[in-house]
Amino acid sequence: MPIKKTNTKVDINQRRVINGADADVIQLYPMRHAFAWEAYNAGNANHWLPTEISMQKDIEQWKSTAILSDDERRAFKTVLGFFTTADSIAANNIVLAFYRHITSPECRMYLLRQAYEEAIHTHSYQYIVESLGLDGGEIFNMYREVDAIYNKDAFILSFNEGIFDPAFKTGNLKSDQKFLENIIVFSLIMEGIFFYSSFAVMFGFQRQNKIVGSAEQVQYIMRDESQHLNFGINLINTIKEEQPELWMPEFQKSVIDLVKQAVVLEYTFAREVFPKGIFGLNADSFKQYIEHIADRRLERVGLPAQFNVSNPFPWMSEAIDLNKEKNFFETRVTEYKTGGALEW
Ligand code: FE
Repeated sequence: MPIKKTNTKVDINQRRVINGADADVIQLYPMRHAFAWEAYNAGNANHWLPTEISMQKDIEQWKSTAILSDDERRAFKTVLGFFTTADSIAANNIVLAFYRHITSPECRMYLLRQAYEEAIHTHSYQYIVESLGLDGGEIFNMYREVDAIYNKDAFILSFNEGIFDPAFKTGNLKSDQKFLENIIVFSLIMEGIFFYSSFAVMFGFQRQNKIVGSAEQVQYIMRDESQHLNFGINLINTIKEEQPELWMPEFQKSVIDLVKQAVVLEYTFAREVFPKGIFGLNADSFKQYIEHIADRRLERVGLPAQFNVSNPFPWMSEAIDLNKEKNFFETRVTEYKTGGALEW
């Protein structure tokens, strides 16, 4: 759209997460959505790369026949099979849906950072597959072959339909609700629920001192993902404030229904990963854990808890607090090139 030449300044009160004025997407100021700028800065401060983490111990343990049982190997590969394509699905939606329809420049700044982080996560899985000498064609194709992964991804991808249509536009009640539903599915469900049994499996390994390099990679991914989730929740709650008419009772009910469907898909996946259960993690405790975090996600967007169960994996909260517990700079194996060290 051609810009109009004018001395009139942008009115901060006209700025919106969606349906803001067309020309406003270029100007970062006047900034209205401070949460997005904070998220952008937090993302930069947490920058990391997969190749900075040593995979030596994992390589030795994977080769050894004495460390990992067949069930543990199968669980690790299935979790990796989910992860390898999950961040690409998230990245596609950021670039092809969020970025196109979100009109707040500061939110778009964070989306650029977030999209790069999703690429780093996919790089991390590639690095694990390559380090351990796994069959990339097998692991990366699991989302088409393994029912429990396929069912989660098919559910998520069905919410791209319509939104990826070049003719899709926000600006009326129906399309705004459809886009808000897309944000809810990708942020609250994909990033807020569908990653979490896989995170728990990886930290289960870490607690046994097994495949610790891969687990550390996933710990950095989880730190990024909890930031993505926070940002998504801020988007949802800000849209609710800016366009309260969208958050009608039927819509709230449909969100609760989607979360309930997702909970079933997620604990079905966990059952597939651990049919017999290992290191104290079994299908029942996963079901309870997923229900527990689903309630927390619902509460963050102002909806009532549905399951009201306690957290069977309290150690997961410690794993999430990586930035407070651990000094990344003491463990990283390479350093960034600073301006002075660059060679031309
Ligand atoms: Fe993400």
